[in-house]
Amino acid sequence: MTTPLLGSTTPLAPALFQSSVYAIPDLDALARIYSAEEPGFIYARDAHPNAHLLGITLAELEHASWSLVCGSGMAATTASLLALVRSGERVVASNCLYGRTSQLLKQELSRFGVATTFVDCNDLEAVRIALQTPARVLQVETMSNPLCRVIDIEALARLCESHDCRLVVDNTFATPVLAKPLELGAYLVIESLTKMMGGHGDVTLGVVSGRDGELLPRISQIMSLWGLASNPFDCWLTARGLSTLELRVKAATANAAALADWLAAQPGIIRVVYPGRPDHPDHALAKRVLPRGLGNMLCFELEGGRDAVNRFMRGSKGVPFCPSLGSTQTTCSYPAMTSHLYESPAEKKRQGITDGLIRLSVGIEELGEIQMEMAKGLK
Ligand code: PLP
Repeated sequence: MTTPLLGSTTPLAPALFQSSVYAIPDLDALARIYSAEEPGFIYARDAHPNAHLLGITLAELEHASWSLVCGSGMAATTASLLALVRSGERVVASNCLYGRTSQLLKQELSRFGVATTFVDCNDLEAVRIALQTPARVLQVETMSNPLCRVIDIEALARLCESHDCRLVVDNTFATPVLAKPLELGAYLVIESLTKMMGGHGDVTLGVVSGRDGELLPRISQIMSLWGLASNPFDCWLTARGLSTLELRVKAATANAAALADWLAAQPGIIRVVYPGRPDHPDHALAKRVLPRGLGNMLCFELEGGRDAVNRFMRGSKGVPFCPSLGSTQTTCSYPAMTSHLYESPAEKKRQGITDGLIRLSVGIEELGEIQMEMAKGLK
């Protein structure tokens, strides 16, 4: 977009339109903007240029026909569920989702008369049985948070197709660099841009993308009315982050694969959970579903439970305890008291979220540097 001030020149970096509202010449222009006869923006909660431009880039990346940027990953999940389900309808969901997504389904959607059945999505027969009772949505994660369970998106998409259900895939851990769920039959794909896609730990945003235009106006309206919109500066920063996404994912993935093997050889570690390791329950499936790499997320369990975790955190200051993921710097988190805090002890036990479990978001530093910092906490 050019302004008289710039003459014939254009800035190399995209412009930031940090405005909550736009001046409109007159009512005729307003009517033309409403009817899409002419481009333009009115109010940033409804739409703004930086979200619009970021949406175009993201749709290309996802191989989607549209992408809508929302105020967070949870806003993207909320918008998609609100658009797809109504009171009296049912959701089937993976039984190892990001804790806040499970909580949204269990504690919030239930208040609006939407019931959720949680099921092991690696057991296709169990999913088929769950879908025999009509369900509007099957909610899954390409690679689950935190234990990196990988699902067969194509097989689940076929099951959804034959049961008139919409497959919604949260692709946050994989990113579109490693998986493009819409190409594998998903109806909607969601990512938290706060994580690897923004990539620098400085934004809070999400995105929902779709294959056909059917749901686009509905989700736009929901975003506006439920107040789920993004802000321009975070969109601008995320656009900058996306320009290095592929490089960062490749570097962090290579580091994670090497670090998983290194950790498995360290004393005091009971188990290492990484889909690239042969002892991961979904190792073979993961290599098929994610042929470009198995991501930057891994978990390890320390002997000695919570006390050992505290010692690790105090010792390895160079791997800060930050309950998020996907930054350039390696960080760690503790699922039992952060992402899955609200799960019951029995549910944590079932998922394998133990007192000694640390989740690692591997960054793009030199591998030796990460090992050196980790080793300080493992002494
Ligand atoms: N989906 C997954 C897999 C996540 O890990 C998270 C956050 O950790 C979210 C969604 C929610 O994203 P946000 O924090 O941007 O709302």
